[in-house]
Amino acid sequence: MTDRNDVLFEHARDVIPGGVNSPVRAYGSVGGTPRFLASARGAYVTDAAGREYVDLVASWGPALLGHAHPEVVGAVQEAASHGLSFGAPTEGEVELADLIAGRVRAGGLRPVEQVRLVSTGTEATMTAIRLARGVTGRDLLVKFDGNYHGHSDGLLAAAGSGVATLALPGTAGVPAAVAAQTLVAPYGDLDAVRQVFAARGGEIAAVIVEAAPANMGVVRPAPGYNAALAQIAHEAGALLILDEVLTGFRVHPAGYWGLQVEAGEAFEPDIITFGKVVGGGMPLAALGGKRSVMDRLAPVGPVYQAGTLSGNPLSVAAGIATLRLATPEVYAAVDAAASTVADALSAALSAEGVVHAVPRAGNLFGLAFLPEAPADYATAKTQEAFRYTPFFHALLDAGVSLPPSVFEAWFLTAAHDEEAIGRIVEALPAAARAAAAA
Ligand code: PMP
Repeated sequence: MTDRNDVLFEHARDVIPGGVNSPVRAYGSVGGTPRFLASARGAYVTDAAGREYVDLVASWGPALLGHAHPEVVGAVQEAASHGLSFGAPTEGEVELADLIAGRVRAGGLRPVEQVRLVSTGTEATMTAIRLARGVTGRDLLVKFDGNYHGHSDGLLAAAGSGVATLALPGTAGVPAAVAAQTLVAPYGDLDAVRQVFAARGGEIAAVIVEAAPANMGVVRPAPGYNAALAQIAHEAGALLILDEVLTGFRVHPAGYWGLQVEAGEAFEPDIITFGKVVGGGMPLAALGGKRSVMDRLAPVGPVYQAGTLSGNPLSVAAGIATLRLATPEVYAAVDAAASTVADALSAALSAEGVVHAVPRAGNLFGLAFLPEAPADYATAKTQEAFRYTPFFHALLDAGVSLPPSVFEAWFLTAAHDEEAIGRIVEALPAAARAAAAA
């Protein structure tokens, strides 16, 4: 055993459960030794053995500009020179809140008037749900199967991401009484939502939905779906929580919501959650909404929420720098890179006769071994997922790092230039052959 990744993984498994600090990193569904990364720059990551890969994980979304953008790193270094954490308000937090609220506008709508900063997407959705319960005085939450909103109690029932990969129904450690507060509806089925509301409408505080699901593979919401959810919730006095932790500021300057409103699908979510890109690779997430909802949070309102590191100055500096640099040109570059890679992926698999679809929602795309892009979780799960293992490893061996699960989106960045994309395109035919032979 000479490979540094193997040595580290063995050691890691001794001192860290499963050797990883987040389950999907363990290569559970594709097998083999996870690459321990030592550095990342632009479109590339380098592992502990010194091998370089074109990266399509982008830290699971945050690296919109590419890894370690010099201006983002510079902003963090500058902030660090003034102190790591104060536990007091800072000027930067106000600027970041302004930037977020200022961006989330479209079609004359402005759903985010106030913002609270937290450290993870999990905290953002957890707080959004508590806030919805506090505002409505109701307990129940409606979520959709295959949608992932972080790992808080009550949100892992029928969740996607690592839970889908590991095929767990939920998780141990959540009291039945807590899980019973979550009603799970099949994604994409509005009649099912109407039935849930007909039965329990008076008890439902909120519906939570991924703006475009990307944790059961990528699923593009049917036209009008999110708007209809808003309407059903509002008619019953419930709130709509739009989870843009993954999509927010990645697919469009105003998130997937902005993309939809610009496409003529206007609707108003009550709370939007952000993460990943908004923190530019540092631990930062946010929730935002109308003043009338947001000021129910402590210290103004009765809904308690807090955090020692919330609005941490280093994270805030990374977020400000990232959002300032995320210009329309950046989105155009990421969109174009996504199209090129998605087309090459499809062409390579078609050439080998592999049944597949490349589902797409804005610049997010993924791979599904199904004849058509799935519209729901039940269909996504029927795919020939076993083909992903040899496909993934063929690309990894060729120096292209994909998410280690077929149920995850592929993330392009503005740093994926011709050279980086060329390396991916070159490696795809052999990977497609491996998928065909599986
Ligand atoms: N919501 C969505 C849609 C996500 O994709 C994720 C993470 N992938 C989360 C919430 C949780 O965010 P975090 O991992 O930062 O807690």
